[in-house]
Amino acid sequence: MSGWKLVYESFEPAQEGIREALCTVGNGYFATRGAAPESAASNFHYPGTYIAGCYNRLRTEIAGETVENESLVNAPNWLPLTFRIEDGDWFDIDSVDILSYYQELDLKQAILKRTIRFRDPEGRHTRIEQRRLISIEYRHLAALETTIHAEDWSGTIEVCSALDGCVENGGVARYQDLNNHHLSFLAAETLSDTTMALEMETHQSHIRIAQAATTRFWLGDNPIEPALKTEQAECYIAHRYAVEVDSQQTLQIEKTVSLYTSRDRAISEAGLEARKAVAEAPRFAALAARHILLWKQLWRRFDLDIEHDDPAEEKHTERILRLHILHLIQTTSPHIMDLDVGVPARGLHGEAYRGHIFWDELFVFPLFNLRMPEITRALLRYRYRRLNEARRAARDAGHRGAMYPWQSGSNGREESQRLHLNPQSGNWIPDNSHLQRHINAAVAYNVWQYYQVTRDLEFLSFYGAEMILEIARFWASIATYNNALERYEILRVMGPDEYHDAYPDAEQPGLNNNAYTNLMAVWVILRALELRDVLPSQRFIELCRQLELSPEEFSHWEEVSRRMHIPFHDDDIISQFEGYEKLEEFDWEGYREKYDDIQRLDRILEAEGDSPNRYKVSKQADVLMLFYLFSSEELGELFAHLDYPFEPEIIPRNIDYYIQRTSHGSTLSRVVHSWVLARSNRPGGWPLFLEALKSDVSDIQGGTTAEGIHTGAMAGTVDLIQRCFTGIETRGDRLWLNPCLPEGLQSLTLNIRYRQHVLKLYVTPVCIRISTEPSSEHPIKIGIRTKIHRLNPGDVREFQL
Ligand code: BGC
Repeated sequence: MSGWKLVYESFEPAQEGIREALCTVGNGYFATRGAAPESAASNFHYPGTYIAGCYNRLRTEIAGETVENESLVNAPNWLPLTFRIEDGDWFDIDSVDILSYYQELDLKQAILKRTIRFRDPEGRHTRIEQRRLISIEYRHLAALETTIHAEDWSGTIEVCSALDGCVENGGVARYQDLNNHHLSFLAAETLSDTTMALEMETHQSHIRIAQAATTRFWLGDNPIEPALKTEQAECYIAHRYAVEVDSQQTLQIEKTVSLYTSRDRAISEAGLEARKAVAEAPRFAALAARHILLWKQLWRRFDLDIEHDDPAEEKHTERILRLHILHLIQTTSPHIMDLDVGVPARGLHGEAYRGHIFWDELFVFPLFNLRMPEITRALLRYRYRRLNEARRAARDAGHRGAMYPWQSGSNGREESQRLHLNPQSGNWIPDNSHLQRHINAAVAYNVWQYYQVTRDLEFLSFYGAEMILEIARFWASIATYNNALERYEILRVMGPDEYHDAYPDAEQPGLNNNAYTNLMAVWVILRALELRDVLPSQRFIELCRQLELSPEEFSHWEEVSRRMHIPFHDDDIISQFEGYEKLEEFDWEGYREKYDDIQRLDRILEAEGDSPNRYKVSKQADVLMLFYLFSSEELGELFAHLDYPFEPEIIPRNIDYYIQRTSHGSTLSRVVHSWVLARSNRPGGWPLFLEALKSDVSDIQGGTTAEGIHTGAMAGTVDLIQRCFTGIETRGDRLWLNPCLPEGLQSLTLNIRYRQHVLKLYVTPVCIRISTEPSSEHPIKIGIRTKIHRLNPGDVREFQL
């Protein structure tokens, strides 16, 4: 990587999958992997295009069962563009003699560039340059500009530009035994000598996807209109043109594509709109100029600067953080404010987890809360619209309130798969991950955090409070009273650590009293009770009537919140779940010797006929999530409310205990571990942050990045800079700052938004400077370490630490 760029200087077929994911361009409405335009899906290439919220369900018979999976659909490929010289072979990056290769994702501009010089079997030399963008201004437009230089030959170039609907969801090898054919053909048409259109429809959700494309030519600076030959097959349409080129001449080709679906608003019909949009689209240069301008504005809000003792580390860190910010905005740009979509855990960048939405939002939203909270608001409304489905799920499971699904897609039904393939053993095994009820705490936590940052009382009143109340009701209803313990328990669930889904040799899945889940349940109930004071009283009364919430129900919640059981062992170690201490210690050293990579111990142990359920091993942070989400003061208050002793000293002891027993099989894990180490002022935070930073650029899980980026880890690393090292907390109507810069980090500069104020923060180990933009907003209260200050719009204040 150099400057604001992700650069590759050679073509490595085996690396294409990762590069395609990392070089994805998109605008939140749709995104396309950085695949070579001339290549169809193959062992090395996978040109996927994904439209936010465009899901489809398919059934498959597998391992003696019928399973139904919902997937984010791989839309028709709009990229195809290639050429041949004098009836030779079509240009294909895999077969030409490459003399030089350069590929660059320009992070500032969100434009993907590629330059290739090659020699063909006839000894001719040709250079091609390509630029590609998906417009951040016109959400329905994408464009590919190709320039072909005939270096030392004259002759005919035949160009083929196509829209290809013969695509499947074939991007993840593990899913290949499942039915992957989501699209059926509706129509393909040549509209003019430059324009073609293709329409496909998803089988089950019946979403129509319409694309239209124009292909235009310039020889040198002169526009030309070569004769058209159309090639058409079911699901596919291509336009071919032959152009005479002289030696040293340059042929420029602009392919502009529009994309609409029947889910769009303010349209008459998708196909019609696609044709209209492409007819009105400006040329590449004009489209690019506007695109760059809008990205500049986004960067003004989202960028951050760090100063580090080691300048190389400083540059490297900043660039990767920018790559992460770029991909997060490309997944959830301002365009999603008008859409009904969530943040897929793997972005719009690949097919892993089928484009589903998980609790990873917990790691993503804090970034947007403090930069562009309107995005969080839109994403929270995705959850609100699915509240009825969550109520139904709670009811079906015999509970009250709302039970959100672990994996969510189109309508908020539980989309977790019931069987999954262990690629290590080839076995299809039951998947109990849907038992992760803690997703509900994440939804409520996200609503509360959004409110704390924005004070958006309208949102809280009309959407957020209802979700919090229904989730609190769910927690109070799933909690059962244990007479012997004289406490409430939550039984048969899974915590965040997915290695444990049952007790060793148990017939039923589920674990009892996962400490993270139980404590989060208490926290949610307390926030629900707090709504009595936060909401305008009339609105609170309305909600109580609407939801039939009685004073008795509130008393029960109050009681549950005081008497929830939290298991401990070895005095002050918070047990991941009840009985955790009875599990066997794991032979970490032995397994590290036996296997190169032990991040996915679940797969290794299952392939050996064993199970992680037997051992004290965690895939990812579970108990430590508590120290990630809450400061020690907040935890102190929670434990005091529960009448459990809690001294801040137990935090480092718990960190040490679990850190040794975690394999980081999820990219979220290093983010959390780095955070808790940094906040407790311990060494190890920064190196772990650097590792978390490499999750996708270096594909540290060995192959998963090609299947999609990890939005949680990408946002989590940015948020480590944004909130962890600055010590930003938004609670109790205050913006708290309590910096704790890791050794070597000299300063951080970032712009944040807090309650309609735009603040510029400059943080060093010894001081904080805050400048607020002038505005007519009310003053805000900020807490520096433990002292409260008032900040007026336009103030510039410096605080010594
Ligand atoms: C992790 C989950 C996460 C999911 C999607 C899994 O590997 O264990 O915590 O939500 O990936 O990113």
